[in-house]
Amino acid sequence: MAGHSSCGLESEEDLEVMVGLALSCDIHRIDVFIKCCSLGEGYMICDGEASSSSNSSVVCEIDFLPSFYSNQLKPLLSDGWVNCMKGVGQRFAQRVVEFRDALSKYSIHSGFNFDFVKNDKDRVTVHCKRRADLGCLWSVHARVKNYSKAFVIKQFDDVHTCVSSFRTIKHARMTSSMIGGLISSDIRSKALTSVSEVVCDFKDYYGTEVSYRRAWMGVEKARGLVFGDYSSSFDDLRWPVLMLNGTFLKGRHKGCLLAATAKDGNQGLYPLYFAIVDGESYDSWH
Ligand SMILES: [Zn+2]
Repeated sequence: MAGHSSCGLESEEDLEVMVGLALSCDIHRIDVFIKCCSLGEGYMICDGEASSSSNSSVVCEIDFLPSFYSNQLKPLLSDGWVNCMKGVGQRFAQRVVEFRDALSKYSIHSGFNFDFVKNDKDRVTVHCKRRADLGCLWSVHARVKNYSKAFVIKQFDDVHTCVSSFRTIKHARMTSSMIGGLISSDIRSKALTSVSEVVCDFKDYYGTEVSYRRAWMGVEKARGLVFGDYSSSFDDLRWPVLMLNGTFLKGRHKGCLLAATAKDGNQGLYPLYFAIVDGESYDSWH
């Protein structure tokens, strides 16, 4: 790693730790040399200068994907994202929202990040994030087409001269909004999808690690997309309710029994009962 000192590694576990550390530090290149010596074989991490002085070294290229995605035979749901950005003339009927979404998915799949140079509803210009320090020339420009109102790619330089485009386990563009959009159909069919499930599913199906907090926010946004937000849902509660009644319990246990009738999703009647006995509340049943 340029600018970093050399260190020796004794095992594959050490190598995995080093790769994880490099990813977390946003380091994009590691030169690995295998050295033979009397003590046996081992891995040696060297920087660029040290490598030229080592004639017996063998350069190994590291493919990062196997380090965080073990099942290489199973296709990822994100594999198709390579086609999200096809080239000049590509149209996005849902305008800038669809273009931004496609751009984020493409960057996650290709393993780079970007900066917006221009970003409004009529035009977007984007550069590779490594333009500032490495002068990368990757860029894309799209704008709205007047007569159709669709977004169209007008210029696309899809070569990373920074040579730092490779897939990593975490990606800044895998935002909670992106997660929410990707799991919204799952939330619709299974409203009680847990955050832990989402974290595991993203590793399994997208090869991407998302934090628990980001996954939680994604679930909340997906529920908002599918069911509406909590405030409006709670406000709707009083409108289905057709009848509410209650009575005091006068037996051994004192309390209150409440009964309500509401409409279910099929516009049928849906009776609910709720009891408060000796100050304790009990689940509703029907
Ligand atoms: Zn680049």
